[in-house]
Amino acid sequence: MAQPGSLETQNRDDLLQTTRRLLVELSALSSRITAVQEIAAAINRSLNLEDILEIVGRQAKWLLDFDHCSVFLVEEGDAARLKTLFGESDQTLYENLRQFADNAIASRQSQLIRDSWTAAPAHPFRSQIIIPLESENQALGTINFAARAPHAYTQDDLRIGYLLALQLAAAIRNARRFTEMQWLYAGLRRAEQMRDDLTNMIVHDLANPLNVITGSLQLAQSIAQRTDAPAHVQQKLLENALAAGKRMEGLIKDILNVSRLEAQQLQLNWTWADVAELLRERMPAYHTQAQQEDKQITLEIAPDLPLIPLDVQLIGRVVDNLLSNAFKYTLSGGRIHIAAALTGAGCRIAVSDDGQGIPAAHHTRIFDKFHQVTDTQGQSLRSGTGLGLAFCRLAVEAHGGRIWVESQPGQGSSFYLTLPLNSAQLNQEPSE
Ligand code: ADP
Repeated sequence: MAQPGSLETQNRDDLLQTTRRLLVELSALSSRITAVQEIAAAINRSLNLEDILEIVGRQAKWLLDFDHCSVFLVEEGDAARLKTLFGESDQTLYENLRQFADNAIASRQSQLIRDSWTAAPAHPFRSQIIIPLESENQALGTINFAARAPHAYTQDDLRIGYLLALQLAAAIRNARRFTEMQWLYAGLRRAEQMRDDLTNMIVHDLANPLNVITGSLQLAQSIAQRTDAPAHVQQKLLENALAAGKRMEGLIKDILNVSRLEAQQLQLNWTWADVAELLRERMPAYHTQAQQEDKQITLEIAPDLPLIPLDVQLIGRVVDNLLSNAFKYTLSGGRIHIAAALTGAGCRIAVSDDGQGIPAAHHTRIFDKFHQVTDTQGQSLRSGTGLGLAFCRLAVEAHGGRIWVESQPGQGSSFYLTLPLNSAQLNQEPSE
């Protein structure tokens, strides 16, 4: 039997003391691990980054003692933001932490600073733990704990911090994904809304001329049954129906052509064409329209215009769109002028009107699909689908040309398009 004070008794007491100390440490570690699990459960219930950080700031004190706790997040495009979860937060501190955080992110290593007094005397904290936040091999930032006292942290504290960092990184990743999904969803909803609006606009724009066609034809039919029906009335009704049919046809062509031109699926039908003829042959119809609407239309063609390579149908439709807008946006008594001339950039066609004009902010955007000029309250001043000028731009660009507008509100608009004199697709010279 071992005597009190003997070597054997001494060893046993040491062993017991060590075991007790280890048990106390183990139990402390185990309750800290349980605390990490509880924090993890709480942050995993949220998909909101601010809420997640707030939970960590509130509950991390269960794990570690600190005077300052912050998260340094690497945002998109190299920007970074420091979010202080506990303690003070000022610019000097930010600069200091940023250096430590940058190092930890670059080296992908956690850092345990036991006493930084000599290394950085301006720094208010002598003990620090900086742990990188990583998810799926991507650096998200760091979590930082700092204490004023030296030697405040041990390797165990670093391990506990690391466990928390693992959970936090996963929660940040999930929150970011959720935000991305929300953006995508909102984008989809916007696209859906736009598609619905567009469908409504197109249906509305097609329904109007269709009503004119059916109304005119019904009237023409009932008149035709009467023997005393004046021929000119029937003629007028048929003209109205035909004009409305052409409007519908034009709109449908614009819709189809815009899609095909965008997908580069429209084969241009290149020929050497006479722009003067293309413009002159349209004038009778536009003179009639001008007369009906009490407007004036004039044409001026330079004498030296050569034949140029183009798709007559497409450029004809561009001119029709510009003229139809010129009529649409001028009041009765208004003037419309068409001019064709040779310039350094090729053959230039101009369609000018003295109508309502277009504010400068819209000069480029009116050539985008569906864009329409808005009033000072942001309300659309729409009177069409917003496809006409998009088609014009795509068609002119498919010819290697350019289209633009010069205009001021209240002072009319001039639309210009230039078409090159040669085309790689039609390298044979025009026959005389
Ligand atoms: P829409 O079918 O709406 O007329 P466009 O693409 O042809 O579509 O034109 C886009 C917008 O540009 C129009 O909604 C209108 O606000 C403006 N716009 C086009 N031409 C003129 C013009 N000659 N005068 C004033 N505004 C014009």
